Amino acid sequence: MPHKKTPFIAGNWKMHMTLQETRSLLTALLAASPDLAGAEIVVLPPFTALAEAAALLLGTPIQIGAQSLFWEDKGAFTGEVSAPMLVDIGCRFVVIGHSERRQHFGETDAAVNKKILAALRNGLRPIVCVGETLAERDAGRTFERVESQVALGLSGLSPQGFREIVVAYEPIWAIGTGKTATPAQAEEVHYRIRLKLSEKYGNDLAACAIIIYGGSVKPASSYSLFKEKNIDGFLVGGASLAAEPFVQIAKEAIRAYKEEL
Ligand code: PEP
Repeated sequence: MPHKKTPFIAGNWKMHMTLQETRSLLTALLAASPDLAGAEIVVLPPFTALAEAAALLLGTPIQIGAQSLFWEDKGAFTGEVSAPMLVDIGCRFVVIGHSERRQHFGETDAAVNKKILAALRNGLRPIVCVGETLAERDAGRTFERVESQVALGLSGLSPQGFREIVVAYEPIWAIGTGKTATPAQAEEVHYRIRLKLSEKYGNDLAACAIIIYGGSVKPASSYSLFKEKNIDGFLVGGASLAAEPFVQIAKEAIRAYKEEL
C-alpha cells in the first residue's frame, strides 16, 4: 500500500525559453519559494538554458534536469548530449521517453532502457514517461501498452537504481491538448503501474516509487488529482512556462498532501 509522499512537481519547458526568458521565469519562481517549500520542485529547461538555470538555482531548493540524453558517455555522436555532460553542469534529473521523443524522434522502449541505464550509471535520476494514444485507449489497450512500456523500459535495474526512478504517466491524448485525464482515469493507470513495478521489484520498493501524472495539468485539476492514492505529483508542460500557474499547481498539491498528514 503506497503512502502519500511529498508532492513531486516538474516543469517541462520543452523547446521554449531563451536565456532572458529563463532568467525572468526562474527569478519569479525563486520569489515564490516560500509557497513551494512543501514540494520537491524540478525545472527541465532546454539544453541551451541549462547552464544559466543551474547557475541561478545553485544553493536553492529548486532542482534542475534535462529533457533527454544519449546513452553513450562520449564519442562521435553529432548533436547528442551525454549524461556526464549533464552532471557536469549541475543536472540532477533527466526526462527519458517523453511521448514527443517517441513520436517525432523514434525513441523505442529499448532506447529508453539504454538511456535509463546511462543516466543511473552517471548519478542522474531518470523521469521515465509512459502513456497510451487515444486509439489505444479506445481499443481498451491502455493497461497493456503502459505495462509493456514499464516492463521493457525499466528492465535490468538494480534495487538502488530503481529507487532513483520517477515514472511519469502521460496519456498522449492529454498532452498539450487541454484534456486532462480525470482523477479516476489517472489513478487506475497509476495503480496498474505500481502493481507492475511490484511484480518486478517487490512491494516495498514499488510502494516507495514516485509515480507522477502529466497531461494538461492546471491549477484547477492539481488538488483532485493529487488526492488520489497513487498520484505522487505532476509533470507539467504548458502551465510551467509562467510562474503563476506552476506555483499554483504546486500549492494545490501541497494543500491536498497536508490534508493527508
Ligand atoms: C508534458 O510536456 O509532459 C506535458 C504534460 O505537457 P502539458 O502539460 O502541456 O500537457
